[in-house]
Amino acid sequence: MPNIPFFDGHNDTLLKLWMAEGADKEKPFIEGMAGAHIDLPRAKAGGMVGGFFAMFPPPLKTAGPPPVGLSENLPPLLAWADAQQSTNGMASILLRLERAGALAVCRSAAELRAAIDAGTLASVFHIEGAEAIDTDFRSLDVLYAAGLRSVGLVWSRQNAFATGVPFRHNVDPDIGPGLTDAGKELVRVCNAMGVMLDMSHLNAAGFRDVAAISDKPIVATHSNVHAICPHARNLVDWQLAAIAESRGVVGLNYAVGFLRPDGLFRADTEIELMVRHVDALVEALGEDGVALGSDFDGAMMPEAIGDITGVQKLLQALLDKGYGADLVGKIALGNWLSVLERTIG
Ligand code: ZN
Repeated sequence: MPNIPFFDGHNDTLLKLWMAEGADKEKPFIEGMAGAHIDLPRAKAGGMVGGFFAMFPPPLKTAGPPPVGLSENLPPLLAWADAQQSTNGMASILLRLERAGALAVCRSAAELRAAIDAGTLASVFHIEGAEAIDTDFRSLDVLYAAGLRSVGLVWSRQNAFATGVPFRHNVDPDIGPGLTDAGKELVRVCNAMGVMLDMSHLNAAGFRDVAAISDKPIVATHSNVHAICPHARNLVDWQLAAIAESRGVVGLNYAVGFLRPDGLFRADTEIELMVRHVDALVEALGEDGVALGSDFDGAMMPEAIGDITGVQKLLQALLDKGYGADLVGKIALGNWLSVLERTIG
């Protein structure tokens, strides 16, 4: 196996740590966590040099009613206070991991490069769904001060800013309304602050609004090609064209349900199918527009990959397919660093 350093666009490891039993939420990451896809020992062994660490606020006790007209498609709204509670919990884990020397919370491309050069796992503080941000953006100031540099406007639910796509196969992502006025303002505020915006989970109308408003590259951290796997979470041709035009990036999602043409949740999914998505992404976005976005610890993985230590098999498959070492290096690491430099600075 090669040992190519790579940067991952999406994991849900912080959620897994936050939900785990026990008061010490950091130790399982530092010493190894059975049943998880990512922990520090395996990240080091597998060649992971950094990644976006998502904070996804799960539904809690005061969840509101389902959005009107979307109740069959989407989970209920999440109250701001609930999102704050879980986000603060996961942010604390990330900050304590930094204090323990397990990783660095990086606030710029220069800090990412410095951490990688020093052999420290380089993390980007990302929230998956903006529920923890109030519509006056005051909590955004606090999150930014804590290290937030990347915002997914929505998970697959509706919030004060935008509407996500449902988890449905054989549908177009053009379901539901576009950004709210607060959502449009959030795009402008994030552009001005140097916070990257993530389109994964966002519906088509919202995507169009972001593309019209944002003056930064358009990024989908963990999405695939709708023409191969027609899931609402994947990107249709016009979305890929808009990302290409903005010089943005798409991170390949390894979740089997977003890879397979039949949309089935089957672990016996071939690495060759992942390569097919990469081929199509390179075709649509060019060599600077494709990266990795595993969805580790948040989805069923192909058994051929397994966990973070299996990513080198995907990179080897790209080399075997005839991808040059330079291009594989860009997909693995260079393209994330480049687009982060052009969004967070
Ligand atoms: Zn996701």
